[in-house]
Formats: sequence, C-alpha cells, structure tokens
Amino acid sequence: MPNPIITGTQIAYYTICHRKLWLFSKNITMEHTSELVEIGKIIHENSYSRKRKEINLEGIKVDLLEAKRGVIHEVKKSKSLEESHIWQLKYYLYYFKQIGIEIEGIIDYPKIRRRERIALTEEDISKIGGILFDIQNIVDEDTPPPIIHKPYCKKCSYYEFCYC
Ligand code: SF4
Repeated sequence: MPNPIITGTQIAYYTICHRKLWLFSKNITMEHTSELVEIGKIIHENSYSRKRKEINLEGIKVDLLEAKRGVIHEVKKSKSLEESHIWQLKYYLYYFKQIGIEIEGIIDYPKIRRRERIALTEEDISKIGGILFDIQNIVDEDTPPPIIHKPYCKKCSYYEFCYC
C-alpha cells in the first residue's frame, strides 16, 4: 500500500517551493482571499457539474473519476504551474498503480479550453520514490526552508508570511 500520509497537494507544493510545502505540512494556513483563488474556485465548482464525481482517499483527492473509461481528471485554472499539476496527477496514477489499478490521467484547463493527457513511466515511478523521500525529510525539519524569491511568491498565499 502506498504512503497515504503524503498528499497530492504536498507533491504539487514540492515542485513549486519547499518552504510552501513545509508551511502547509505544519498546518500553517493563510487567508485565501485573493481574486485568483476565487476565480479558481468558481472554475472548479462549475466544471463538469453534471458528471462530476470526486474521490477522496486519504490525501488522494481526484476532481473527477470516469470509472468506466478508467480515467481520472484534475481541473486547473491555468498552465502557469503546469509542472506541479503534472506531478500531482502522476502521483495519483502512481498511487492507483500501487493498489493494482492501471488508470489514465487528464489535466483539464477549461478556462483556456485545453486538455493534457498524462502517462506514468517507469522513470516517473522511480522519481516519485525520490520525491516522497525528500518530502519526508523536508517536513521533518524543525525550521522552514529559505524563501525562494521567485515571481510566483507574489501569488502565493504565504506571501505576507514570508515577506512581512
Ligand atoms: S512566498 Fe515564495 S518563498 Fe514563501 S512560501 Fe510562497 S513561494 Fe515559497
């Protein structure tokens, strides 16, 4: 059985910023009031409203499962953090593979009408093993990793925490 303690969100944050991953993993949360977050929520709530079927298994929170076709979907608002979206979905494919379910992954960007098919390779499986190990080490640290000083910081919910 794969490690259910590490969530898809942690995998995504690992690819964005290790400090963000650490803060989130320590349950340090900030107010989510930005317009971008609101837009994201609206897209999320309105996409697939008729055939929406979420699944949530101990940190594996998939936006839509098409059980008959064996496809899981993640719905995202833009491609600006595409790398994190890809690894989050690859982690879900990895999780299902570990429990004996071969499944296909699709990332949907309804706002820009794009769809990306995501496959899990043997190389990915080995990389995910390394990522899980790294995440555990980061989370086990008593102090957060340094501020990354990237343009993304201005959109991050921890911006005030890091920069005030
Ligand atoms: S503001 Fe920047 S450094 Fe701080 S958690 Fe967010 S991405 Fe990381």
